[in-house]
Amino acid sequence: MGLIRSWVQGANAVDAPFPLNNLPCGVFSTDGEEPRCGMAIGDFVLDVTGLEEEGLLSLEGGPLLDVPFWNEVMAAGPDVWAALRAQVTAVLAEGAAERGAVERFLVPRSEVALHMPFLVAEYTDFYAGRHHATNVGTMFRGAENALPPNWLHIPIGYNGRASSVVVSGTEVRRPWGQVKGPDHAVPSFQPSRRFDIELEMGAVVGMPSDGPVTVAEADAMIFGYVLLNDWSARDIQAWEYQPLGPFQAKATATTISPWVVMKAALEPFRVATPPREVPLLPHLQEPGPMLYDIALEVALQPDGGVETVIARTNYAEMYYSAPQQLAHHTTSGCPMNTGDLLGSGTISGPTKESRGSLLELSWGGKEPIAITGGTRSFIEDNDTLTLRGWCRGAGYTIGFGDCVGKVIPALADPYAR
Ligand code: MN
Repeated sequence: MGLIRSWVQGANAVDAPFPLNNLPCGVFSTDGEEPRCGMAIGDFVLDVTGLEEEGLLSLEGGPLLDVPFWNEVMAAGPDVWAALRAQVTAVLAEGAAERGAVERFLVPRSEVALHMPFLVAEYTDFYAGRHHATNVGTMFRGAENALPPNWLHIPIGYNGRASSVVVSGTEVRRPWGQVKGPDHAVPSFQPSRRFDIELEMGAVVGMPSDGPVTVAEADAMIFGYVLLNDWSARDIQAWEYQPLGPFQAKATATTISPWVVMKAALEPFRVATPPREVPLLPHLQEPGPMLYDIALEVALQPDGGVETVIARTNYAEMYYSAPQQLAHHTTSGCPMNTGDLLGSGTISGPTKESRGSLLELSWGGKEPIAITGGTRSFIEDNDTLTLRGWCRGAGYTIGFGDCVGKVIPALADPYAR
């Protein structure tokens, strides 16, 4: 399928991130107004809350867009998701008779503030990238113990904090925490000196589950995907992580991109996970391709400086797909809810330039990387980190919107009152 042409300005260029094929879901506001649901199209946001109010959009069980989050649509299921896309596509398509009625619901993207697109119910983060797990395992435990013995059999994860998930553009304050280096007899409490990013994709659960689901059922439950930056304090992590996994190292913030790209927009880009080194048990096997060919990059910009792209990789590098992770998540009977967010795990590729964290890029700080005007081992104060992702179709692009966060200095005294 090629580009679906639209009458909206900026929607038809081959490299435009928001063609009619995309229609990602966000929440926006303009000066002084309450946030509303919108879909990105060309250079604009389509006010779908307004469209539904006016009867130009009609969803079963509606109104579903009269709240400043997408959870009601997400919970309504795949038939409503398809109906939404079909109706919006019809009114925005080139030659649509509704153009005159719909035009007043377009707001220039340059004039809007973007908010959290959905209410995060719970947040789980995985560790499902082979290259990342091998790199980090080598640094933390040595090459012989790099991959834990369970790694090739289950997608390892930990339960994170929904409260820490923030939308792109939110500043992230460098955390304090307890650390202990190998040369120190006792731990100390100090601002993190090894603050880092993790380049990930986030899967957004639409339909809830109660009891174990198959990988195919898990795929059907997923509403869409976002870019996700799992900010990580490596010095805190190294001290605290055994035996129950990361805790405060990952609890400062997790930034997501402002637009949820619906699964339907990603269909043409499905790819299979790589060949298994050992076969998975049947309940975790993929019935079809469930990763996506999404090009990814990370950029770092010092305060007042020039941006450097420090990593380029692809979501297709993952060993486990989000449906496999979601299916595994339910094996115990764990109920999953509308708005649950699943981080993929850091997406590193096989080459040095394709590593999705500074920990790997600088090999634990031993090999600082070059950026324009300096070097970096880990994030410095007032650095801005930007994740970008896109799929290239035949004559069009699917963009996610930048996932941006600036790291501001740690508090002088976190307990000052
Ligand atoms: Mn992570």
